[in-house]
Amino acid sequence: MRKRILVCGAGGFIGGHLAFRLRQEGYWIRGVDLKHHEFREPPCDEFILGDLRDPAVASRAVDSIDEIYQLAADMGGAGYIFIGDHDAEVLHNSATINLNVLEGAQRAGVRKIFYSSSACIYPEYNQTDPANPKCSEDSAYPAAPDSEYGWEKLFSERLYLAYARNYGMQVRIARFHNVFGPDGAFRDGREKAPAALCRKIAEAPAGGEIEIWGGGLQTRSFLYIDECLEGVRRLMDSEFSGPVNIGSEEMISINGLAELIMEIAGKPVLIRHIEGPLGVRGRNSDNRLIRVKLGWAPERPLREGMAKTYEWIARQIG
Ligand code: NAD
Repeated sequence: MRKRILVCGAGGFIGGHLAFRLRQEGYWIRGVDLKHHEFREPPCDEFILGDLRDPAVASRAVDSIDEIYQLAADMGGAGYIFIGDHDAEVLHNSATINLNVLEGAQRAGVRKIFYSSSACIYPEYNQTDPANPKCSEDSAYPAAPDSEYGWEKLFSERLYLAYARNYGMQVRIARFHNVFGPDGAFRDGREKAPAALCRKIAEAPAGGEIEIWGGGLQTRSFLYIDECLEGVRRLMDSEFSGPVNIGSEEMISINGLAELIMEIAGKPVLIRHIEGPLGVRGRNSDNRLIRVKLGWAPERPLREGMAKTYEWIARQIG
């Protein structure tokens, strides 16, 4: 009998890619999402178009399932999460999804569940120096995330760990650091920096100008989707619950990222810095724990994934 897998958020960026990967590995897949995938319909054996804020939908989704990957969330880039306008929705929607999926899974006897947390749980006070952020897993407390999105992720991590403790469920928790790649949002207001910069540079005339929020000196690391999925699958099949960072250690400033994309595009443009939502000053993945626990860590160069992503976005724009 093929293992039956549920992917929550299969209509989204990472969930969609994960469904393709699981299909390649030969699993039977049920997807659930509020919406169909915008760019590339994932190869699910069953797809439930439904709202996981409804406990009845969550119960239907988890029925007769062996393992769950929970990637559904009310999610977006800085222009969605850091402006304050969506705080109540983000907290309410994502917490309700996690409460429903986990409780449904527990009642249905599903033994194993993956949860996608985020680097946004890390305290702001450790990320004020762009050159030297601290994001080791054990630095999460005393908690001080800089967004409600981060607080919900931290609450939900605790929820999953409590279900593991009290109900004997096997949980696996990853803290993703800025995952990017083709087939993700790039113009709907939920896009993140790599996709937004690719779009702006692809749309700009040669010698033209693009806008960047803030001074562009804030640093981040970015993880290509294929390595994210590799980490997720290795974590799921391991004995380690996490939480563990799944991210790249190749830190770059936002100005540096823009310059890298210009090189890839073969198109130099001017950068105009404008006011905008920023997030923390510096953030980088710390991969010491994942190396110890999984004997593996992401290592592909940023340029490689950015080239594939730029090419895809440029093609969408036409
Ligand atoms: P995404 O927005 O592309 O995918 C999330 C999906 O969840 C969407 O398709 C959305 O429609 C669905 N969804 C939202 N509310 C729902 C509901 N009530 N019922 C059913 N489906 C619902 O985001 P993504 O980039 O694929 O992220 C996947 C997960 O990874 C999320 O939990 C996100 O918080 C986490 N994460 C992502 C990143 C990243 O860089 N992409 C970083 C850290 C954490």
